[in-house]
Amino acid sequence: MARDARRAIDESRDVLAELLGAAPSDVVFTSGGTEADNLAVLGALDARGGVAVCSAVEHHAVLDAVVGRGGRLAPTDAAGVVDLERLGDVLDDDVTIVSVMMANNETGVVQPLADIAELVRRRSPNALFHTDAVQAFCWLDVAALASVADLISVSAHKFGGPKGVGALVARRGVAIVPRAVGGGQERGLRSGTQNVAGIAGMAVAARETAAERDATVARVALLRDRLAAGLCAAPASAIDTVDGRAPRIAGIAHLLFEEIESESLLFVLEDEGVAASAASSCSSGAMASSHVLGSMGVPADRAGGALRLSLGWSTTADDVDAALEIVPRAVARLRALVGGR
Ligand code: PLP
Repeated sequence: MARDARRAIDESRDVLAELLGAAPSDVVFTSGGTEADNLAVLGALDARGGVAVCSAVEHHAVLDAVVGRGGRLAPTDAAGVVDLERLGDVLDDDVTIVSVMMANNETGVVQPLADIAELVRRRSPNALFHTDAVQAFCWLDVAALASVADLISVSAHKFGGPKGVGALVARRGVAIVPRAVGGGQERGLRSGTQNVAGIAGMAVAARETAAERDATVARVALLRDRLAAGLCAAPASAIDTVDGRAPRIAGIAHLLFEEIESESLLFVLEDEGVAASAASSCSSGAMASSHVLGSMGVPADRAGGALRLSLGWSTTADDVDAALEIVPRAVARLRALVGGR
């Protein structure tokens, strides 16, 4: 029985390794993206000392680890892309880990990882480079784009796998200190009995996702564009937060509605069967203002009317038609309440 479990894990490791552009022994299974991000950033700091740097728009799993250890943030431009000049300003010989996500979980904006990695190698030669590819795997060839990274995080539930399982690629020779010690599983980097069913499910989902990726991206990008364009037109008259100014993944439409509070809009949409979120879909639901929009310089009153609609492999044209009917109606209802119209 133990051998069967072992085989399932090994076969899954081979699948993930190939799809992430890593050697099987580089893949460390974790409980998800958060643990992988924490292990990368905190594990590198514990191994090497020094200073951590990340972009100002990282998921909190990276951001809070960096800020909690007194690290430095690299701001983005108004489109949400890391500003290379300002990143250069916070890089020096003291920096030992730099973390920049592949695609943002609120706006979907894709970062220029090759340029960022090149800058990091030049300005901070002692630094490891980590990328959080949690939002990217569905849509982008992570193996190719993250070949410049020493450490890569993914999470199964973002690409149709089970919740509560993920992986960190930690390439051989990249020294990090484990957060969980004990039985020495996963090269000693993550002790504890592995989540065998979760890992096997993640590998199946990863294989399916990669095999269908090009077709899914082409189909969903059209749906997303139709959805965003429809909501930007009257009567909803939203503003597209990214609006063609930066490359972005196919699965996110991020919109700003003037005169509306996201919280009220989400409440009405939920009632009508539209699942949406104001910012990231994977934080605990707190309605704190978005640090991502803050970094892009979106004024607080505008950010207060943010709506993030996600699409995936299972999204259909009918879903988009339904959203295009329901969202403008909800927006009109709320604006009428606010304006007394
Ligand atoms: N990083 C990004 C970019 C995310 O969108 C998420 C959301 O779930 C995470 C990390 C955290 O991953 P998990 O929920 O698997 O812990």
